[in-house]
Amino acid sequence: MLMSELYSPTLRETPAEAEIASHQLMLRAGLLRRSAAGIYSYLPLGLRVIRKIEKIIREEMDAIGGQEVLLPIIQPAELWHETGRWSDYGEEMFRLTDRQKRKFCLGPTHEEIITVLVRSEVRSYRQLPLRLYQIQNKYRDEIRPRFGLMRGREFIMKDMYSFDRDEKDLDKSYWAAYRAYERIFKRCGAPARPVEADSGAIGGDVTHEFMVLADAGEDLVLYCSTCEYAANAVQAEGRPRQAAVSHPAQMEELRKIATPGASTIEEITSLLEIKAEECLKTLIYLADGKPVGVLIRGDHSLNELKLQKFLDCEALELADDETILKTTGAPVGFAGPVGLTIPLYADYDAADLFNAVTGANEAGYHLLNVNMGRDYNVASFADLREINPGDPCPRCDGFLKGARGIEVGQVFKLGTKYSEALGATFLREDGEETPLVMGCYGIGVSRTVAAVIEQNHDQDGIIWPLSIAPYQVIVVPVNSRDPKQTETARLVYQELQAAGIEVVLDDRQERPGVKFKDADLIGFPLRITIGAKSLAQGNLELTIRKDKKTIFVPKKEIVAHIKGILKDREICE
Ligand code: ATP
Ligand code: MG
Repeated sequence: MLMSELYSPTLRETPAEAEIASHQLMLRAGLLRRSAAGIYSYLPLGLRVIRKIEKIIREEMDAIGGQEVLLPIIQPAELWHETGRWSDYGEEMFRLTDRQKRKFCLGPTHEEIITVLVRSEVRSYRQLPLRLYQIQNKYRDEIRPRFGLMRGREFIMKDMYSFDRDEKDLDKSYWAAYRAYERIFKRCGAPARPVEADSGAIGGDVTHEFMVLADAGEDLVLYCSTCEYAANAVQAEGRPRQAAVSHPAQMEELRKIATPGASTIEEITSLLEIKAEECLKTLIYLADGKPVGVLIRGDHSLNELKLQKFLDCEALELADDETILKTTGAPVGFAGPVGLTIPLYADYDAADLFNAVTGANEAGYHLLNVNMGRDYNVASFADLREINPGDPCPRCDGFLKGARGIEVGQVFKLGTKYSEALGATFLREDGEETPLVMGCYGIGVSRTVAAVIEQNHDQDGIIWPLSIAPYQVIVVPVNSRDPKQTETARLVYQELQAAGIEVVLDDRQERPGVKFKDADLIGFPLRITIGAKSLAQGNLELTIRKDKKTIFVPKKEIVAHIKGILKDREICE
């Protein structure tokens, strides 16, 4: 490819619309242009990267027995009604109506369509296991599309669905996909860390997210510094309550004190000169419309996702002021467990608070020396709080550390959620009709490009890993008016092309500074520079983009040398 012909309009200035490095660099290097919020056009260099990632994904999916299909983007509403997700998906779903007034959506994911497809064709256990995948645009009307390809409204996803006869076989499919994902991200130059996660709207119970650690990541990942435990912070577990906690201190006498004007933890702790961890927060929630009380240690925060799962309710919201007044007898800020008649649930760490400070269920008053067992009781304990860096690991004696992560993929064990809802069954070996056991496995192909750049760039531009670089080599004659240099450049370019190497020749009549800047910005892993001085000695300059190290290679050996580097990729990665 000649640089003069390449449609890659580079920008000198950082576009104001882009906040993070990957987005800025993709625009500046001419990989991408915005069409609407969260909707982009891929220019040739950007598309070449996408195609390379897709190729790696296809190889790895095929290697675990995946077969590629292409499912419709436009999906009929009826299917989504059958699983209840037409309403569950909410505003994130792009919906449309055809001229017959029939309702459709633009697929945000494809569980419904694929389950129905397989329902019609798979009858017997002999046809299992079945692993089908596709690579295609997905549509989600994200509330906050941002960071370029990181969170688009139209984005490219690889989604695979597995169909097995039982949980044991699903386990095989799941771990095969898990291992394939580890290989895929490593091959793309952005090793991803699998973390335990929440299954969200997709459903199922066992799931891992694959996180590329980078400061621009939207998720907080917590991982143990001692053992292998790693989880998305939303999902991270607290350490279970120790069975027998013995308190050395005495239970002090319960006392009511006036705390006028102090209703928040900050106000109470400064008024009474105590620590937040000596307080017991009592939060009143409405679970499917019924009030419940939740006890959390003063320095902790409640994780609503955990509470909702624990209570197994459809709707969960903080109670309104009126409900709080009605259930506690006091306005917001003075609730406490003593004397409450609604069901109370305590986080493990709240359970062990001794001589705690709580609201008195009376405006302007708090209680001192509140103790469970003596002063109140709870319906049950659970892991209900948010976990933070520095908290103990739930699996060992270590402590958790935090890092930002970009979710590039997720694997789910779905079980029979979709096959039951859609009646996708098969005949077992013993003749019994049973629902197919499913798994689903997504990779954000376009988001992966952004994640790779977040991990591989410097102040001058992108540093592509060889495996997904749009072109591996750029040939730059320093002086475009020196025929010796331009001729050598063209010759080297042709030789590299003949050797099957992906190469760009910068044949533009530009100053050397401009050419070098563009080469660094676009991020070609290898640059061959042809300058007068080295050429006079029969040498070419070879610069590795990653560390900018330059070596001199005899002109005759350049192709063999580049081939060697491409074989031994580590030099650039
Ligand atoms: P997120 O939590 O980031 O919104 P998700 O968990 O809803 O993503 P999945 O349903 O698990 O997404 O989709 C599979 C993969 O698709 C994700 O791991 C992610 O890499 C990618 N993905 C999801 N939403 C987007 C988006 N809006 N833009 C780009 N990629 C996305
Ligand atoms: Mg996900």
